[in-house]
Amino acid sequence: MQYNWPLIGHTHIKRYFEKVLQSGNIHHAYLFEGPQHLGKSTFARLLIQTLLCEEKDRQLPCGICRPCDAFKHTAHPDFFELKREEEAHISIEKTREFISTLQTRALLGSLKIGMIEEAELLTQEAANALLKTLEEAPRSVILFLIASEPLLPTISSRCQKITFHFVGSHDMEQAFQRERKQSELLRLASGRPGVALRMKESAAQESYMGEMQEIRRLLKIDEGERLLWITEQFGSGNKISDRRVHAKEIFDMLELTLRELLIVEPTLKAEPVISMLKRTAQAKQFLKANVDPRLICEYLLLDAS
Ligand SMILES: [Zn+2]
Repeated sequence: MQYNWPLIGHTHIKRYFEKVLQSGNIHHAYLFEGPQHLGKSTFARLLIQTLLCEEKDRQLPCGICRPCDAFKHTAHPDFFELKREEEAHISIEKTREFISTLQTRALLGSLKIGMIEEAELLTQEAANALLKTLEEAPRSVILFLIASEPLLPTISSRCQKITFHFVGSHDMEQAFQRERKQSELLRLASGRPGVALRMKESAAQESYMGEMQEIRRLLKIDEGERLLWITEQFGSGNKISDRRVHAKEIFDMLELTLRELLIVEPTLKAEPVISMLKRTAQAKQFLKANVDPRLICEYLLLDAS
């Protein structure tokens, strides 16, 4: 059987799943973990489409059979996604709903497949609700959890863990060899195909670089100016849910910028950067625990020296 999985890099993961599919020994729950923008969700979708595809003689997924067509139009009745909505977490209510839809009979084929994006945003209660499903899921149910941060051990130990790593320069160069500003693109993306794909549009590249520069500036200014910046970012006019999403974007960008600093500026003292990275990880945890986004930003940025 041939597989058509247009995914940049991660060759060993593709080979692994080819063997799994050929043997028919599919685990009931997979956890795809690793930093953002590496292709975890993209690959999960390709794999899910392959599992649902009803063609057996062509390259899979075939892309034209009824299930493939439904999947492409996000209308496959046996595939369910759970993701965060407005709030920066996944609630127990949404999780219960997701679990109960997975328990009904499959309509098009014999499998029901669920995918949880940003599974690290499951609240403690939501994660607990999921445990039972992970333990006692019917044979026809397969779950894919996607996470860029560690999950509770009770969850991760019940899944088959697949770790995604940064994509090597050879694969990245090959994938983006026709790009005009290839070297700049690859430097910014630093092993993350998802970032490089976004950067291909020059407007996106500019806005990304702008955001990164803004964060770099933020790291240089004094605490008084930082407080001013925080006040601008979290004006009282915004809804709390918007403020949470915005705070998550800031923390993600801060993380990327700090990582880039470690790579491209070897003369820099690593210790403060690493300590700031740790605080950023902590800040994300606070956000998940529903602490006020502005307070978290103040904790992160005003007490960092
Ligand atoms: Zn198909």
